[in-house]
Amino acid sequence: MIIGRILENEKRVKFNVEIHCNNCGVIVPGGLQTGESYFQTDDFKNELEKLRQNYLCGICRDKKRIKK
Ligand SMILES: [Zn+2]
Repeated sequence: MIIGRILENEKRVKFNVEIHCNNCGVIVPGGLQTGESYFQTDDFKNELEKLRQNYLCGICRDKKRIKK
């Protein structure tokens, strides 16, 4: 999964974070990628934090979609 931005021809940084589904609590294997210039910036940290707080696993996301 890609977060933030990756500029054209920019190197990608791959990193792993542990993300829990906010509904069922399952741990989602978080192989993430972002652009080298974005990695570890304040924006990057905010975005990662938001992702952590809002993340739903595929199953819960599907359930939510059906309910709507
Ligand atoms: Zn879930």
